[in-house]
Amino acid sequence: MSRAEPLYRPPPDVLRLPLLGRLLKHRRGRLLFQIPLLIVAALLIYDGFTGEQIASRNLATVGAWVHYRGVVILALLLAGNLFCMSCPFTLPRTLAKRWAGRGGRFPRLLRNKWLAIGGLFLIFWLYEVTDMWASPLLTAWVIVAYFIAAFALELLFSESPFCKYICPLGAFNFAYSTLSPLQIGVRDPKTCQRCVGKECLNGSYSPQPVILVDQIGEAPPIQHDSRGVLGCGTLLYAPQIKSNMDCTLCLDCARACPHDNVILGVRSPLRELGAPRSLPRRWDVNFLLVALAFMGIVNAFGMVPPVYALLREMASALGTNAEWLLLLIIFLIGSLALPALLSIGAAWLANALTGKKQHPRSLRDTFAAFAPAFVPIGAGIWAAHYGFHFVIGALVIVPVFHNFLLDHGVTLFGTQVNWKLGAVIDAEQFAVVQVILLIGGYLLSLILARRIAAREFGAARAQLAFLPYALLFLALLLAAFFIFSQPMEMRGTPELDGLFH
Ligand code: SF4
Ligand code: SF4
Repeated sequence: MSRAEPLYRPPPDVLRLPLLGRLLKHRRGRLLFQIPLLIVAALLIYDGFTGEQIASRNLATVGAWVHYRGVVILALLLAGNLFCMSCPFTLPRTLAKRWAGRGGRFPRLLRNKWLAIGGLFLIFWLYEVTDMWASPLLTAWVIVAYFIAAFALELLFSESPFCKYICPLGAFNFAYSTLSPLQIGVRDPKTCQRCVGKECLNGSYSPQPVILVDQIGEAPPIQHDSRGVLGCGTLLYAPQIKSNMDCTLCLDCARACPHDNVILGVRSPLRELGAPRSLPRRWDVNFLLVALAFMGIVNAFGMVPPVYALLREMASALGTNAEWLLLLIIFLIGSLALPALLSIGAAWLANALTGKKQHPRSLRDTFAAFAPAFVPIGAGIWAAHYGFHFVIGALVIVPVFHNFLLDHGVTLFGTQVNWKLGAVIDAEQFAVVQVILLIGGYLLSLILARRIAAREFGAARAQLAFLPYALLFLALLLAAFFIFSQPMEMRGTPELDGLFH
């Protein structure tokens, strides 16, 4: 007797919601989110180049360094990769595609996350060295550079190499969207097996209306018109998606599927990270997850007084006052060397403690298996940090925008600018939220690591494999508590510039 196949039940689908679903899947649906952000980006660039060069009074610095970062981490944890979905930098994509046709593939050697990890390191280091947060002009140039890079790479290559391999913001969003409650999937995998065109991946970019040769019939087929639709820019194939990594949530796949088979399913935030092989067992992808947790610590460390004490010590020990060099050493050690050393060390220890000889396992397998467990603690650290700057400076945007309008002769809201506006809640109240975020992230990381240890090493050896990671997460938590208990620089916030006690 043949065993019956388990019945596949698709999860609840956001794209089926009455109004929102239609809006998201509409041909111009993404534009509705991108155009407001494009206008915001244009305002930031304009004010950055022409406005008052004071961080706390310029839209570029306040918008980019106070608001963007706080909103992005919140959106990732509550919904998904909403920034990439609304990303104005990808707006030139369609234009570039129409000009360039399909283009070639990105060089094989660079088809990984090493460039993005390098980009993240570079941007965090440059942010400190150049005091980017204090320079509206520099911030505006960074935004312009983003537009140029995204457009040029779309023009040259068939996939979206900027989003997938280079963009540091995208790499951050991809990493933490693995914890998001929404994920692309399909309603009926059998429909995909019989689908000929695989339009979710290939698109139906044709000068003529597409002729369907696979009249499957489960759902009324959607006829694409002569304007065609793009397939997945980052080359993900909807029925095989197990992870949010590389998904920009652009929903092109949902628009392209002629069988209306793509869903935006609701899932448990820990599902992907706890599942085996939802992410490839590659050094680059998994190191991104580990390094970001450490980068969260180093990024916050750059804004508290002990960093200055350390810089002084290093300057006298090394006999140099070159701040760029001293910061480079701190960032290299904290963001790249330490995560590599400690996470590979933990993997080696887990293998050694559980009897490598009797149960041989490669170092990479153990490293990659545990890397997803670094995501919750990393997300907790970033949310505690960026959330803090956001709640303390959220209302600053009101006087800054008011002042911007006045500078351009618009007196719609009167002529009195209230520069006192700033915090939504005070720092002491948010300290409680920070503790919850840090401990919550730490506990979720422990739960994941314990699950992974049991799955990979079996119940009898799970405790031993788990031990090095439990210690490593505890060290990260203590480092985070130390940093967040220090007075933090409030950058780009009027009245609060300087240390916040
Ligand atoms: S998601 Fe749609 S386009 Fe993609 S393989 Fe399945 S049925 Fe075909
Ligand atoms: S799977 Fe690809 S096409 Fe679909 S939403 Fe994600 S990035 Fe866009």
